[in-house]
Amino acid sequence: MKAVPQELVIAVASGKGGTGKTSLAAHLALAGAARLRTILVDLDVEAPDSLAYFPEAIRVGRNCPVSLKVPFLIPESCSGCGACAKACHFGAIVALGGAVTIDQKLCKGCGRCVFLCPENALKERGIVVGQTRLMKSGSLDILEGRMDVGDIRSTSVIEAAKTRAASLKKEVQVRDCPPGVSCPATHAVEGADYVVLVAEPTAFSLHDLSAAISLVKGQGLKAGVVINKYGFGDADIESLCREKALPVIGRIEFKRKRASSGASGKLWTDDGSYMQKIDEILKRIVHAVETDEGELG
Ligand code: SF4
Ligand code: SF4
Repeated sequence: MKAVPQELVIAVASGKGGTGKTSLAAHLALAGAARLRTILVDLDVEAPDSLAYFPEAIRVGRNCPVSLKVPFLIPESCSGCGACAKACHFGAIVALGGAVTIDQKLCKGCGRCVFLCPENALKERGIVVGQTRLMKSGSLDILEGRMDVGDIRSTSVIEAAKTRAASLKKEVQVRDCPPGVSCPATHAVEGADYVVLVAEPTAFSLHDLSAAISLVKGQGLKAGVVINKYGFGDADIESLCREKALPVIGRIEFKRKRASSGASGKLWTDDGSYMQKIDEILKRIVHAVETDEGELG
């Protein structure tokens, strides 16, 4: 039997939005907080909404800006060689006819251009791309990562939120990850002990779940599926899970009242049968981390 890590990191993800991912993450975090020091980390930094479930949460400490070092040009030092534009993988630098233009909005702050400039004509300065803020609701800590409006550099904010969450040394960390399978989702699940993929029995969700399974498989992460709105549609999520050798660790039946209250950010802590399901899911996750269940080949 494997040991449970000092901090159990659970990433709640989904191939598509609207499956009930944030709601499940919030309730899992509450179930964890009933017994252990737990933090809910909102990594859906483009549109974080976990705090909508905790309107009474109070702020703890200062908001921390997330900054990035971006290059600026010293024109009198530049020879116009174009090495910086060739070095940039993100198309943030254009060198045309010896004139260099830097689009700081596209810059990811990797520093390659600065390092490779033969004339030392690029310097760096910090710009703020987002922030993290720490809140508390009862015994549950909630850390939110939020990108500045109009920015596209979500991964810097996600990594900053992960680092701040880790520094708080909780026993359980539940991450609400961005939907989809692109770069932000990849960064959000990276390093998790277990990934919960939330799906609903619809054709769209089935298709996107398959892509999400490939994402966690690519990272060699343990994972299981929670079927939300069970009975709502007829897409065969269970067959896909069998085919991909992925356990279904929970089935949450569809209830119209619950679906509409969930969309408006309401907790269902007074729903005993629902909270029992959440407890069971959490126990399955702990068991899977201790053993080989959910190991993807
Ligand atoms: S690499 Fe340096 S010297 Fe060459 S174009 Fe870019 S800034 Fe100018
Ligand atoms: S720091 Fe990296 S991303 Fe930004 S302009 Fe330079 S090479 Fe491109």
